[in-house]
Amino acid sequence: MIRFLFLLVVSSFSLSAVPVTAIDRLAKEIETKVIQWRHHVHQHPELSNQEVQTAAFIAQHLRDLGIEVQTGVAGHGVVGLLRGGKPGPVVALRADMDALPVTEKTGLPYASTVTAPYGDKEVGVMHACGHDAHVAILMGTAEVLVGVREDLAGTVKFIFQPAEEGAWPAPEWGAKLMITEGVLENPKVDAIFGLHVWSSMPSGVIGLRPGPVMASSDFLRVTVTGKQTHAAAPWAGIDPITVSSQIILGIQTVASRQVNILGTPSVVSIGTIHGGDRNNIIPDEVVMTGTIRTYDPKVRVAYHEKVKRTAEKIAAASGATAEVYIGDNTGYAATVNHEELTESMRDVFVRVAGEGNLVRSDLTTGSEDFSFFQQQVPGVFFFLGVTPLDQDPAKAAANHSPLFFVDDTALITGVRAMAQVAAEYLERN
Ligand SMILES: [Zn+2]
Ligand SMILES: [Zn+2]
Repeated sequence: MIRFLFLLVVSSFSLSAVPVTAIDRLAKEIETKVIQWRHHVHQHPELSNQEVQTAAFIAQHLRDLGIEVQTGVAGHGVVGLLRGGKPGPVVALRADMDALPVTEKTGLPYASTVTAPYGDKEVGVMHACGHDAHVAILMGTAEVLVGVREDLAGTVKFIFQPAEEGAWPAPEWGAKLMITEGVLENPKVDAIFGLHVWSSMPSGVIGLRPGPVMASSDFLRVTVTGKQTHAAAPWAGIDPITVSSQIILGIQTVASRQVNILGTPSVVSIGTIHGGDRNNIIPDEVVMTGTIRTYDPKVRVAYHEKVKRTAEKIAAASGATAEVYIGDNTGYAATVNHEELTESMRDVFVRVAGEGNLVRSDLTTGSEDFSFFQQQVPGVFFFLGVTPLDQDPAKAAANHSPLFFVDDTALITGVRAMAQVAAEYLERN
């Protein structure tokens, strides 16, 4: 009986071959360093496709850890490869590196004072989307996993990605260009995980959702051509201003009348309208730009066709023409979490966050180029709350705000989540 009990105790301790205790201990040991790394990257933000110093900082850290490093991937991307002590699959962990043209207003001691040319202006640069936290978390994850290398049943590929926030109108950047340059090959990646720090959740809470989680994002431009005339005699021409007004309202019927509202939600918004030079002249042309957001690849294609048809036919009704350009080649696909992979890792996220601190995340109409990795291999993108526990997350400054704030105490949860998920994935597959 005693012997049976002994066996039971031993076997319950060895249920998982993943060194969870060691991962958590190592994460705790480097927590201060991770916070310092984040502050360093936060103070030295770089715009999309300009992540030179950030890349050098990451590459040096990975080399110091003895990890195989590849630099200059898709511009300034850095890829690290850690081969575990046991054979097995390849899991990739991704962090994006770029900052935004935002002038920081947090007043923090480590706030950014960096400026950079952007278009024809000099702008403030800030890690207003928290990619500094993603970099620090993945650097920490690499250090933790090196510490348990002999126990890893496969290979971990660390993907530090440039230009997530976009470099329009270049046809490819960020995740898409890394894939084109072979980041998911040699060795071939079997699954990928990524996280985003999120202001609308309390610090340390993890948000997970199978299936669609973030929207596709496509650039929209509508050029309406009429016939210029005196504004006092509009019948002598064709007025593209009134036609544009009808189109702005008309394309709203795509979401409300033309797609099944019982499926996933969708948005089309016009953000700019330009036409005319003078109050008493009806111009030849009006150009409008906007964005389209959907969650389902099939809805996305149909939606584009309906926006195009609606705009063109409204223009035709007045004798004008509407030329509709939708940049789906330069847009982001919807971020869709692999259902089975998400479910199979749920217990790991519960273990990391603690019971009650794993929530089903809301859909967000924001978008992410992590979606392109998910189009190639099963992938899971999860959210990490970063708003201090004594504050209301509903009132916290959103990602991209000049007041966006990351609570440093959340970072260790990110490190533990990435490290445990990677180790468990390798062990279970
Ligand atoms: Zn962002
Ligand atoms: Zn982001």
